[in-house]
Amino acid sequence: MAGLDSDIQFLPGVGPKRAALLKRELEIGTFSDLIHLYPFRYIDRSSIQRIADIRPDLAYVQVMGRVVKAEIIAKKRLSVIIADSSGEMEVVFFKGLKWNAERMVPGNVFLFFGKPTVFNGKINIVHPEVDAPPQTPQGSMTGVLTGVYTSTEKLKNSGITGKVMNRLQSAALAACLPEIKETLPEYVLKEKGLVPIRFALQNIHFPKDQDTLAKASYRLKFEELFLLQLSLLKQKYIRSRAENGLMMPKVGKDFNDCFNALPYELTGAQKRVIKEIRSDMMSGRQMNRLLQGDVGSGKTMVAILSALIAIGNGYQSCIMAPTEVLAQQHYANVQKYLRPTGVKCALLTGTTGTKERREIHSGLEDGSIGLIIGTHALIEDDVIFRSLGLAIIDEQHRFGVEQRSKLWSKSAATGPDGKEVPPHVLVMTATPIPRTLAMTLYGDLDVSVIDEMPPGRKPVQTLQIGQGKRPELFNFMKREIAKGRQVFVVYPLIFESEKMDLKNLETGYEEIAAAFPMPQYKVAIVHGQQTPEVKKFNMDAFVAGRAQILVSTTVIEVGVDVPNASVMVIESAERFGLSQLHQLRGRVGRGADQSYCILVKDLKMSKESKKRIDLLCTTEDGFELAEEDMKMRGPGDLEGTQQSGLPISLNIASLAKDGTLLGEARAYAEKILKADPTLSDPVNKSLADEMKKDRYYFKDYSKIS
Ligand code: ADP
Ligand code: MG
Repeated sequence: MAGLDSDIQFLPGVGPKRAALLKRELEIGTFSDLIHLYPFRYIDRSSIQRIADIRPDLAYVQVMGRVVKAEIIAKKRLSVIIADSSGEMEVVFFKGLKWNAERMVPGNVFLFFGKPTVFNGKINIVHPEVDAPPQTPQGSMTGVLTGVYTSTEKLKNSGITGKVMNRLQSAALAACLPEIKETLPEYVLKEKGLVPIRFALQNIHFPKDQDTLAKASYRLKFEELFLLQLSLLKQKYIRSRAENGLMMPKVGKDFNDCFNALPYELTGAQKRVIKEIRSDMMSGRQMNRLLQGDVGSGKTMVAILSALIAIGNGYQSCIMAPTEVLAQQHYANVQKYLRPTGVKCALLTGTTGTKERREIHSGLEDGSIGLIIGTHALIEDDVIFRSLGLAIIDEQHRFGVEQRSKLWSKSAATGPDGKEVPPHVLVMTATPIPRTLAMTLYGDLDVSVIDEMPPGRKPVQTLQIGQGKRPELFNFMKREIAKGRQVFVVYPLIFESEKMDLKNLETGYEEIAAAFPMPQYKVAIVHGQQTPEVKKFNMDAFVAGRAQILVSTTVIEVGVDVPNASVMVIESAERFGLSQLHQLRGRVGRGADQSYCILVKDLKMSKESKKRIDLLCTTEDGFELAEEDMKMRGPGDLEGTQQSGLPISLNIASLAKDGTLLGEARAYAEKILKADPTLSDPVNKSLADEMKKDRYYFKDYSKIS
């Protein structure tokens, strides 16, 4: 008997060849995998628009058109004219030209779904989704709404069309539905008003009507978010009960010596966060804390003081930065603040010389170096700590999970009972992560937020200008430089090839160098293709004030602190994401002077780009921008999250759209765990069973020890 775990090749209509394709293209290996591939939209036969009624401001449209003419233009795009009884329009393909040309034969009729845009004064749809026109398929499972599934050219070529997919789903459901067990306890269904699992699966694929679809989708979304939160929170509960942290009972002299010599008062938020960290470190449990703070909020000071607590308790600390430039800057800063203490500090990066490296290695091993700042060089095999008590990671999204865990594994710190204990971990990020995303990404970490800026800062004035205003821009830059200020000019990565990007940057550099001639002006240039030495030389020239203008790619995006820089010019601003623009802007406005962020934009901009730029001009709140960014682009695209990755991929819920539901699911998971932390109550048996599934064993994720 075929069932959930059966190989997909045994589903009628599949067979070994299609099975291999389904596996490769969609990772579908079993009946169960297929059933859990849900439609990403539904064709509603009642809502096919007439071509004549299409307006460019409609979000998405669906038309049924007959191909009138199809033509590949300049080997680059396929232009297809389609018609219905009301009129004609063009649809355009840039990809899959040959394959699309083959099926776009005059006379053939298709359903086209997509976003209308205006090109040369005419409405067209670029890269529409194309489906066969709806017919009522045999079988009783289809209602008014027909599910549309993710597909690929290869699948369609092998005959797995939308219609075939519907048939396969129908067969898989028929084979498996009776065997599917309810995953949520009865009382959860009741309290949350959820439909049973079988009903939900049946109706997510073959909804009777909109209302049933809504119920099915709500149930599946809630379940997905709830089980995810349950697993994250369960790990957190388990860890918080385990006594496996280094005990650091005192604040220590080093902390006090540094603190008392600070040139400024800590902000309330900094004080609060340091208290949170201190209480973690003296709790006897391992700290796993994420520190979020907008650019310029003063995370470095928090890091230094936290490191000094560990050092004051007889342990070592490290601060790991994602780039050489940042590590150097941290080092310079740290040295300054450590002067009143006797703590020895060192810098270890890829460019540290052999002799110095050897000295540092032995200083770490014998414990004479209290605080080490560095890049990836810190996680090389020959780096061994005498007793690492606190690991601080700046801008964590640039590090992979494996790299992080490597760091702790090399600690030989021991607890009071002589057993090896992992260091406390503080992860710092300036990428403001929306709450919903933080809950999922860091669901089992504690989160501290610095939500207050050091006093005396003027908001950055953000302006947008067109390419044509360059002479005015250069004059403005000259006036600022005459006041003793410095200017960043940043270029995006525009072309696919690094060579082309470099060319773009160099052309810009030449233009600026010509407008700002030596010896009156000095312009430095920094980009990813330079050797670390050249990069450092140019960067130093700007940091030390020898160069007034720094032309660069986004290498300066993270962390670089030049308080005297008051102007940030961002070229082709429409090419950047919102968070990235915000990060760049954060490089200025660090001193007391009025500073400016000038977005140079192309006249030809998409609606989204315009929205991003307008938004940036109206708010400086990183969290607000992050929320908006996520709404516009979806969480998968959110900067930083791509590398760190969601602990689990969501199948139906969306972090951007289902934020409220996520909060609800989390609160509910918390409530259940509070009553039954180990899920051993028989009423929670189905939940306990779910938690045993592979899907909820996050490989080392954020459990970072
Ligand atoms: P970020 O959070 O972006 O890492 P930094 O730690 O680099 O921010 O701090 C930005 C600037 O603010 C630094 O020049 C730092 O010396 C300064 N700073 C930090 N805390 C305070 C404070 N409480 N009051 C005044 N200036 C501060
Ligand atoms: Mg920083």
